[in-house]
Parts: sequence; C-alpha cells; structure tokens
Amino acid sequence: MQSPSRRNFSKRWRRLVTMTTTFADLSLAPSLLQALTEAGYVQPTPIQAQSIPFLLEGRDLLGMAQTGTGKTASFALPLLHRLTTTPRPAPKGGARVLVLAPTRELVSQIADGFQSFGRHLNLNVTTIFGGVSQFHQVNALKDGVDILVAAPGRLLDLIEQGLCDLSQLEALVLDEADQMLDMGFAKPIERIVATLPKDRHTILFSATMPKSITALVDSLLRDPAKVEIAPPSSTVDRIEQSVMFLNAADKKAALLAQLETPGMGQAVVFTLQKNIANEVCAFITEAGNTAEALHGNKSQGHRERALNAFRDG
Ligand code: AMP
Repeated sequence: MQSPSRRNFSKRWRRLVTMTTTFADLSLAPSLLQALTEAGYVQPTPIQAQSIPFLLEGRDLLGMAQTGTGKTASFALPLLHRLTTTPRPAPKGGARVLVLAPTRELVSQIADGFQSFGRHLNLNVTTIFGGVSQFHQVNALKDGVDILVAAPGRLLDLIEQGLCDLSQLEALVLDEADQMLDMGFAKPIERIVATLPKDRHTILFSATMPKSITALVDSLLRDPAKVEIAPPSSTVDRIEQSVMFLNAADKKAALLAQLETPGMGQAVVFTLQKNIANEVCAFITEAGNTAEALHGNKSQGHRERALNAFRDG
C-alpha cells in the first residue's frame, strides 16, 4: 500500500502534469491541432491529458469519467490520429472505428465531435440509431465508413439483416457503458462484439463501476490502462441554489411563481416520472408559457424538436 504522503505526492505530481500539458505536447497530427485551435481548445482536460498518451500507444483503456469532463475528445482525437496516420480504404459495408453509445442524442453529439476535430482530415462519419428509417444509414454503410457512431439496438438489427459487416473493424469504443447496460443493451452489445475481430483496440468509458461493468471490462479489454477522473463539480459557482419545502398541493403555484420571477429566462424542470413531466408541462402551458415534455416515451423526432426549440429559446 502507498503511504499517504506518497499518495499526496503522486496526486500533486499528476495535477502538475495535467496543468502543464498542452495539446501540442500530446504528439497529435498537425491537422488535429489546427482543428483544436479553431475550436478554441487551449489545454487538454485531465481526462484528455491522461488518456490520449495511452491511446496513441494503442493501449486498451478503461476510463471512469462522466459527461462534461471532455471524454469525447479523449477518445476521438487519438482515434482520428490513428485513422489519418494509417490511411486505408474503409471496408465496404463496415467501418474502421465503431463507437457505441446509449442514446440518439449522445450518438449525434459524439459524431459532431469527430466531425469537428476531423474537419481537416478526409474521413467520413456516419451515425446509426433507431426511430428513423434505416434507408440512409444502410446507404452510407455501402461504400464503407471510417467512423461509425451507433446505438446498439439498430446496429445489431442491421448486422442481423446482413447490411453491416464489422469483421474488419480496427477500434471499438463503448461510451457511457453503465448507461447502456441500464438500458438493457447487454445482450445486443455481446452479439455485436461477437462479430468483431478479436485483435482490435478497445476503449470503454463509464461513469460508475458496478459489477456488471467490471465483467464487461474483463471480457472486452486486454490489459487496459485505467484512468479515473472525479466528476466535474455539479454546478458552477455562479449558480445560486436554494431548496423549498412544500406541501404537494402547493407545488404547482410555487413552480408557476418561480417561472414568473423577473429575469427568469428559460427553465428546465426535472420530475421523478415521465407522466409527471407530462402533467407539469400541461399546467405550465395552460398558465400561458411555452413548454415541452422530454422523456423516453416521446418519439425521437419529438425529443429532437423539443431540444432544438429549447436551444432556439
Ligand atoms: P464531453 O465531456 O466530451 O461531453 O465535453 C464537454 C464539453 O467540454 C464539450 O462542450 C466540449 O466541447 C468541451 N471541451 C472538451 N474538451 C475541451 C478542452 N480541452 N478545452 C475546452 N473545451 C473542451
């Protein structure tokens, strides 16, 4: 066991390394560095500073990190580096890199990251998820894609229809693995992985490490490097937090009063259950505000429209 002083020392040392690392120190391809500069990224976040060197060496990696830590770039940058420094045609009907993520929203977000970091590279990115026609997804796969970002359900469906062949895959990422298992994707993941080559680069990110994830890690990763990042502080300092204790009967009026507070621009209201989200949405709307409910029973199209409408104010 490490002595406390040694632990403190290594912690401090790690912090120092993280603070002084720049993207240029990470030996990424110049066109990636250029895209990072254009995106306004100056310094790697801790998860990036720690993961990227392992991934550039080709090590499998287990990352414990949540959204908001910069984990997307921590796998996207080294994978783009790999693709561009070992150029080869993408396998027809398949992909060179596969990223699995639990939801359509995350799939799109990850694909946007690859597009943005890879803007000066001649690589194509395709997304696959359910809730929409498979026509364009199948077409995009035909000529082969460099980076495929997919939700497990639809991807397995395409594989089983013989429309996607990942036997030439070079690298696999499982992002938000705990989320995927919670959503019941353990079997689909197992069946997708069974179609992949054994000799591949595998990366797994999870915010939590329940036993089911440890088992998945043991079955998928080979001698992985482990990187752990404390969750980002849940709120920034300028957010003021307060709690109100109310009787259930008074909640509606109190919420409407909050929403009508001068200076209240937009608001997100979290509820415990989907049906309560619908109810809250209904009474807020009846009171003359515009509101949308967003939860798993809404269609993908509705969820996307609701998020876009929120973004647009
Ligand atoms: P992620 O955890 O990957 O979802 O990233 C969270 C947010 O941080 C995203 O909006 C990224 O664009 C942003 N981000 C990630 N890495 C950096 C970085 N090194 N510098 C500045 N912003 C970053």
